[in-house]
Amino acid sequence: MSVKSGTDCLILGGGLAGLAAGRALTQAGRRVQVLESGDAVGGLARTVAHDGFRFDLGGHRFFTRDTHVERFVRELLGDELVTVPRTSRIYLRGKWIEYPLRPMNALFGLGLRASAETLLGYGSARVARRMLPVPLVSLEDWVVAHFGRPLFELYFRDYSEKVWGIGCRDISAEWMAQRVQGLSLGAAIQRAFLKRGPALPTLVDRFLYPRLGIGRIAGRLREEIEQSSPIATGTQVVRIHHDGRRIEGVTVRQGDRVHDLPGGAFLSTIPLTQVMQALTPHAPAHVRAAAAQLRYRDLVIVTVMLDRDRATDQTWIYFPGKDIPFGRLHEPTNWSAAMAPPGRTLLVTERFCFRGDATWNASDAELIETTVHHLEKLGFIRRHEARDGMVVRIPAAYPLFDVGYQERSQILCDYLERFENLRVAGRGGLFRYYNMDQAIASGLAAAEALLGRDTEMRATVAAGAVP
Ligand SMILES: Cc1cc2nc3c(=O)[nH]c(=O)nc-3n(C[C@H](O)[C@H](O)[C@H](O)COP(=O)(O)OP(=O)(O)OC[C@H]3O[C@@H](n4cnc5c(N)ncnc54)[C@H](O)[C@@H]3O)c2cc1C
Repeated sequence: MSVKSGTDCLILGGGLAGLAAGRALTQAGRRVQVLESGDAVGGLARTVAHDGFRFDLGGHRFFTRDTHVERFVRELLGDELVTVPRTSRIYLRGKWIEYPLRPMNALFGLGLRASAETLLGYGSARVARRMLPVPLVSLEDWVVAHFGRPLFELYFRDYSEKVWGIGCRDISAEWMAQRVQGLSLGAAIQRAFLKRGPALPTLVDRFLYPRLGIGRIAGRLREEIEQSSPIATGTQVVRIHHDGRRIEGVTVRQGDRVHDLPGGAFLSTIPLTQVMQALTPHAPAHVRAAAAQLRYRDLVIVTVMLDRDRATDQTWIYFPGKDIPFGRLHEPTNWSAAMAPPGRTLLVTERFCFRGDATWNASDAELIETTVHHLEKLGFIRRHEARDGMVVRIPAAYPLFDVGYQERSQILCDYLERFENLRVAGRGGLFRYYNMDQAIASGLAAAEALLGRDTEMRATVAAGAVP
């Protein structure tokens, strides 16, 4: 169904997917209401400002092969965008490995023996895969089959288990297939040593970034939508009422107040599992059972503000080792000098966790203290330079792609199809490992569908084929 002029379209979630849809709908003359539970819009792609410092919730680079989305972002931000060179490192077994790999650095970093083993393992995996193809169910199956066991054990096993919090045999191979980024070390090895291999987005050496942080994309979208339609932050959708065929309205909580909002059309970008919990009446038992088995991985960002002008010269640094509590860090001033007051800098670390576990429940003081301890041990800072710290807990940062997730999420999506005035978009909304460009594209496609202008774009997003 399409949203007629004069009908309110309620957009659940004010991340990039919801906001991109909101802009497209308001530009087409429709009235929307964006309902966002957080204090600010932007979702995972927001930028936190604190005492003159600014940081993303894990550095967000903008890169896309979708010319439509690139035009959309360039048009929105104009000369706010800067181009940032990308250099990254992996801290592997006490050594710094440049990423993308360079042969000499890899040889010296990994050592001759590990490098030779990795190359041999890679070669024999390729031969084995051709001669004896086997079904690839888990991440372990996939990586061992494509890159060999030595590379799996050297890097993929520890980093993947740190990110996902479950064993590599329980992580779906589908995730690797869907996210070519996961292949980048192997591809980097091919490119470094063999001078060939696929050109992957992670190997791109420059990317776009808004001078004041990635949150400016959402900030600009907000400004445009609010010219004609309201955005309600601090507004959590707690119930979604339906009659079995159509969504009739939602119940929202704003602080202590709870009230109902009717609407003609609905776009949900909030986590798929939350939609299931909110549906009133409940979905059938088999749908709820599938929803109960879908999980998201959560994230805790610990940022340390420093009394020094620079701590690293990298875009990202990866820490696969389990002895270091964070998996990745970045220094926002390497992305844009405007991210800190002159002469000062900050380091932003990412800890992957599950809501309610020891990391999620640790006090802010404890998280900052252990972060400062490890940053000093790694040689980035001296303790007395750490002047301030800030912790941000982010629920549902990653859809968890465990073995069997696809069938379960499909049951949910199939069930939601019955509601003729509901569309679903976005990363958590569709349970896809989307980057920003894909989240934006899915929001734009949903808006097109709501406008009754179903285009190719919608089909592409539905198939998950947007790069
Ligand atoms: C650590 C990290 C690093 C990343 N780095 C990059 C990168 O470098 N490049 C890149 O392109 N992408 C990156 N991404 C991915 C990118 O952040 C996402 O693709 C994009 O922001 C998803 O937008 P979205 O609108 O689909 O979802 P979200 O941003 O999750 O938006 C959903 C919104 O719904 C709100 N919400 C949830 N429940 C409710 C409710 N009940 N009621 C009302 N509102 C609700 C949430 O608060 C949120 O604002 C990264 C992601 C993470 C976690």
